[in-house]
Amino acid sequence: MEAVVNKIIPFSAVDGPGNRTAVFLQGCNFNCQYCHNPETIGKKNPYTSVMTPEGVMAEVEKNIPFIRGITVSGGECTLQAGFLQELFSLAKEKGLTTLADSNGSYDFSQDEGLLSVMDGAMIDIKAFFPEDHLRITGQDIEQVLKNSLFLAEKGKLFEIRTVISPELFDAPETVRQICKFFEEYNKKKLIRYKLIAFRPMGVRKAYVKNLTVPDEAFMEELKTIAEGYGYADTIII
Ligand code: SF4
Repeated sequence: MEAVVNKIIPFSAVDGPGNRTAVFLQGCNFNCQYCHNPETIGKKNPYTSVMTPEGVMAEVEKNIPFIRGITVSGGECTLQAGFLQELFSLAKEKGLTTLADSNGSYDFSQDEGLLSVMDGAMIDIKAFFPEDHLRITGQDIEQVLKNSLFLAEKGKLFEIRTVISPELFDAPETVRQICKFFEEYNKKKLIRYKLIAFRPMGVRKAYVKNLTVPDEAFMEELKTIAEGYGYADTIII
């Protein structure tokens, strides 16, 4: 099964644990105000390539002595779930770990094949309150929370992330509610919480003027809230 690939980064230290090859698939079902890669939203663009899992794996294999695993991101990687499963299967055969970076819209509970070869997922929880999520992404949050909870139950929710700008929502309350939502599972298996300070680079002009970059004290305040709920692996980027 082929997929539209936006790019492959041979070595990434920011897409999961250890050094990893990051594969970015083209196409997204969200339309986030602060998307840093809006060119990945459409189904294709002049810079994309159509590739087979074997073709992507051939690129990954060049890096094998230096990487711990692969992370597939987007766009939204689960829009090409069949390809994702095949690629992860090939990576597993080579002893690599496999992570998906997703907006949480995919119903992982219906895809045992993918789950069987996916070590974990990093899920964007872009807001907590439904009206905020709809305004920021153009999509409902209900499915995102349901799917994330399912992954947490399975011990496959490796990381959650929230982009922070003071204008987006009530950030302290949002972080509090997100922490409470996964609290039970975080006690069983630590979930990394990545708090991402909004940055304007790459963001579409129509949105960027409405958002400001949070200062360090604001981000630290949110980190303290998360740590207070037991999220010992909370990081600010
Ligand atoms: S989910 Fe990610 S890739 Fe898709 S629009 Fe939002 S920020 Fe962009």
